[in-house]
Amino acid sequence: MWAQTTFKERADCLGRLRNLIIEEMDAIAGGLTSVTGKTPVEAVMTEIIPTVENLRYLEKNAAKFLSPEKRPTPFSYRHSSSHVERHPWGWVLILSPWNFPFQLSLVPMATALAAGNAVVLKPSELSTEVGKMIVSLFYRAGFPKEVVALAPGDGLVGQRLIDAKPDLIFLTGGTETGKKVMAAAAAHLIPVILELGGKDPMIVFDDAPFDRAVEAAVYGAFANAGQVCVSVERLYVQEGLRRLRGRAGGADQRLRVGQSMDDDMGPLTNPRQADIVNRHIDDALSKGARLATARWSKGPLLSPVVMTQTNHAMAVMTEETFGPVLPVMSFRTEEEAVALANDSRFGLNASVWTRDLDRGRRVAARLAVGNCAVNDVLKNIGNPHLPFGGIKHSGFGRSHGPEGLRAFTYEKSVMVNQGTARRELNWFPYSRAVYENLRVYLHMSFLKKPLLAKLKGLWGFMRAFRQSQKKEGPHGH
Ligand code: NDP
Repeated sequence: MWAQTTFKERADCLGRLRNLIIEEMDAIAGGLTSVTGKTPVEAVMTEIIPTVENLRYLEKNAAKFLSPEKRPTPFSYRHSSSHVERHPWGWVLILSPWNFPFQLSLVPMATALAAGNAVVLKPSELSTEVGKMIVSLFYRAGFPKEVVALAPGDGLVGQRLIDAKPDLIFLTGGTETGKKVMAAAAAHLIPVILELGGKDPMIVFDDAPFDRAVEAAVYGAFANAGQVCVSVERLYVQEGLRRLRGRAGGADQRLRVGQSMDDDMGPLTNPRQADIVNRHIDDALSKGARLATARWSKGPLLSPVVMTQTNHAMAVMTEETFGPVLPVMSFRTEEEAVALANDSRFGLNASVWTRDLDRGRRVAARLAVGNCAVNDVLKNIGNPHLPFGGIKHSGFGRSHGPEGLRAFTYEKSVMVNQGTARRELNWFPYSRAVYENLRVYLHMSFLKKPLLAKLKGLWGFMRAFRQSQKKEGPHGH
């Protein structure tokens, strides 16, 4: 049985999977380009590299973070020792999206398997072909057929799979889907991990490294045509740095839109997404926003759009756009920047830009998000050592890092007593003497007072107890 295999055996399979992915990089990148429309460079950089990075992390760290761990045992638990074991849940349902159909399916699957679970992958209906490719890679790497399965289909298939009562559900998807999945899981009390949408802010202070911040804003907003859960979806610029808006507005001149090896930004994967993107732009324009770039579309290809004079009454600043749109707003003070960034129902990722790293850390600490970068965008979530996940409507639970590995296990706390004493002090029979012993125990172990004061406090009780014992005699009640 897979759950009984050693960490070494699982790591060997993961290592073979890692090699296969690199050896077959061109075919995988080609498949991703044709299914999602992402450019070949993007397919390698944002799908293949994070995947192999996470696989190597799992190979090296699963044993370290999932092996039994000794814990202290209180003095009063004589002759006992304690430890925590981590066991696989059983079978895990992975519901994955279409925007990064490779890494957002393969990494949770590999993590679940590294922890000893079996997995069923339900990829997005739009990326079934990628799902097939992933499952074939797992089989060829030596994972047994009975622990990896593909369940192609739409959201209804996802619902039916939940009714088949998996032991854990790991969803990466939109917030509305998250609510439906959680409601369906509640009927069976199945635990869920929800990696949902975001509306990530980028806060740029006057003293930020200017050129770097411009490049980062353009990359953060338009990588994968903005179809990234941690895309820069709101740009807040301090008043002294207004010229940044003009420079970001040059995005449409600089970015090459298309699908060739030399293009920067591909088309939208899901044609329905264009309706949301256009609705957000039109809503903002009708409420006074301005376009800082041209706006055009050719089939699924949309131009990168930068908008100024935006505010929080506009959908483009409050709802997830998930497309190539960058709305810009200005702010005066640090306090105002934090308030604007936190004025969101989402809480996934954020970035703070300043040369003053103390301020960077201070502001990062005040943002209501699960992840934050100072002077960088997007890349922070690729560090396999850091847990990744959201708060508020961006979901809960974590993937990546020790927390992400442990999420695919449940903890079993075990206490082992040597079994040498005839009885424990807390067992029957109860009596007045036991009651008074408990008083002594509480005073001596938990009362926050100097030793002498504790003894003094106890003295009165001890005397009263002795007198009552004398009155009642040895058999008194
Ligand atoms: P969806 O929420 O539409 O779908 C996610 C997965 O859930 C798909 O496989 C989908 O199937 C399935 N699904 C849909 N409805 C149900 C249901 N009722 N029961 C069970 N399964 C269901 O997300 P998208 O595919 O549109 O992906 C985009 C969204 O994902 C964005 O909101 C984005 O922010 C978010 N996302 C979050 C990330 C994170 O880590 N926080 C990372 C990447 C994306 P089908 O598609 O076939 O309907």
